[in-house]
Amino acid sequence: MNYKRSSALFAQAETVIPGGVNSPVRAFKAVGGTPIFVKEAKGAYLYDEDGNKLIDYINSWGPMILGHAHKPVVNAVIDKAKKGTSFGMPTEIETKIAQLAVSMVPNIDKIRFVNSGTEACMSAVRLARGYTGKDKIIKFAGCYHGHSDSFLIQAGSGAVTFGSPNSPGVTQGTAKDTLLARYNDIENVTELIEANNNEIACIIIEPVAGNMGCIPPKEGFLQALRDVCDAHNILLIFDEVMTGFRLAKGGAQELFNINADIVCFGKVIGGGLPVGAFAARNEIMNHLAPLGPVYQAGTLSGNPLAMAAGLAMLNELDNDAEIFNRLAEKTAYLHEGIAKVLNENNIVHTINRVGSMISVHFDEGEVVDFETAAKGNNDTFKKFFHGLLNEGVYIAPSAFETWFITDALTYEDLDFTIAAVNTVAETL
Ligand code: PLP
Repeated sequence: MNYKRSSALFAQAETVIPGGVNSPVRAFKAVGGTPIFVKEAKGAYLYDEDGNKLIDYINSWGPMILGHAHKPVVNAVIDKAKKGTSFGMPTEIETKIAQLAVSMVPNIDKIRFVNSGTEACMSAVRLARGYTGKDKIIKFAGCYHGHSDSFLIQAGSGAVTFGSPNSPGVTQGTAKDTLLARYNDIENVTELIEANNNEIACIIIEPVAGNMGCIPPKEGFLQALRDVCDAHNILLIFDEVMTGFRLAKGGAQELFNINADIVCFGKVIGGGLPVGAFAARNEIMNHLAPLGPVYQAGTLSGNPLAMAAGLAMLNELDNDAEIFNRLAEKTAYLHEGIAKVLNENNIVHTINRVGSMISVHFDEGEVVDFETAAKGNNDTFKKFFHGLLNEGVYIAPSAFETWFITDALTYEDLDFTIAAVNTVAETL
């Protein structure tokens, strides 16, 4: 494949944008090589500036669950744009998307829209602190909740890939209020709660972790968290920025039949535009300004274009009774196919999968937390990544990311991908 134009564009970008990118993982630092500059995308495919066609398994890191440039979403945005792009005043469409989200997701009465997953998680934690009157939070090593200070204590995603778990600029004062637990380890959580008696406002978790590969919660783990939160007056926050409107209509709460106290959204809920949201029952949401004392705001929050894209996306998902089964079946097919060819080529690996999230780890044994995810062979992953890219298959340029399966993928695309994995496996 030829990346001449991408390389030239990257060189230009580097002169005016730090590292040439507006979000670190895009720079390919973990795998080396030149980031690919996208020209356009349609359905399951990306077309880059050099004219290469790639099957896309990142899908903008999750939002494009129905594929790129999905007509109903694009049309909704075009129609809205013609009527003005931002007012900073209430619009009917905000209520419409809120009503639909509340009807799809269990256990929430009200939802507040923001502009990113980071904002959603940051605001959810503030609300939990304001509601409980306590300061400390528990997060899990390897879970990523955006780049707000309280979460960059040993975050997954970019920060881990770069081997710099504590970002300079995050103060010790902030860090001391964030406690880190091991994913899937309820004893560890209980120890932290006991050591910080009556000081913990909330536990925030990705109910399926997607920022250290794809890591499912062990049987009973989420219920155990629910129980321990109930016993200690701690709010349970599900960060469903990845899992929301992806694993089921009602996200992980529905899939695992566990109620969270606050739920955070991003990605799919915005249909590819910059949207985040957080939601809860009335008794919690009514603490938020202007109803209550917990402040939160945004000039572009509830932006009409973003709401139009999100509403069109949620309508599509709500009206398709089979969508989540179909996605899970495609992902299972890919899983079986990849496992078969890696086994045939004697490549040591573990594949994790939940719904339409899947990850391939180059190590043996279960991958259940950050420690086991970090054991994966990164040299093998780099070769795997570049080999697949050369075959026209684009997976995330980091071993710590999940793949996102889109409904636009056909079984021919999946077979093409499995054949590509076979070709690459012979070189690993
Ligand atoms: N929470 C999770 C689970 C995420 O995966 C991400 C981003 O990948 C975020 C929060 C932050 O979202 P954003 O990048 O929109 O700020």
